[in-house]
Amino acid sequence: MFEKEKKQVLDAALEIKRCNLVSLSGGNISMRVGENQYLVTPSGMVYEEMVPDDVCLIDGSCRVIEGIRKPSSDSSALVYMFEHMPQIRAVIHTHQPWATAAGFAADELPDFLVTIMDACKNPVKVAPFTPSSAVGMGELAVRYAGDSLAVILKHHGVITYGGDLKEALYAAIYLEEAAKTYVLAKAMGAGIPALAPELIAQEKAGWETYGQ
Ligand SMILES: [Zn+2]
Repeated sequence: MFEKEKKQVLDAALEIKRCNLVSLSGGNISMRVGENQYLVTPSGMVYEEMVPDDVCLIDGSCRVIEGIRKPSSDSSALVYMFEHMPQIRAVIHTHQPWATAAGFAADELPDFLVTIMDACKNPVKVAPFTPSSAVGMGELAVRYAGDSLAVILKHHGVITYGGDLKEALYAAIYLEEAAKTYVLAKAMGAGIPALAPELIAQEKAGWETYGQ
């Protein structure tokens, strides 16, 4: 079941690896594919060694419906997010270093760069630490999501989400680029002025018609 979607999950996993948002088997990709049905990457498998059939189909209790692999250890957190954010269809969890570093410098990454405004939609909040492989990570992600498509998990990494995998992927990759700029600007001692709300709104409106 869901062969096309499993391939999309694997492609997204390879993309976060290619963009250096995770190392080895870190992070995970998940997708809502039906009522109470979710695809999730397997636990502890190096992405380049995965094939689409390694992607697990699980239910809302994290029981494997289809697949021979053990699902991601973060599955309970991911299912919690899907259940409490009905508008999302995809979640990406990474350990991306620039955004995680920025999480130690601020409680929120502001709307300071076009990539944050466009891909993350709104300022990205920093959630306090909670251990991985537990539902608490999902609870904090939901609590700190606000109107953004990303949350920075302090001492851990990042969670992004969206209406589809592409939206979650853009949020993760552009957040990392923006966070790198943020950290470098801070390191130079540069001030990062707040932009006028009407300019931010104009920028976001342009993104809606961006691309083909
Ligand atoms: Zn993690």
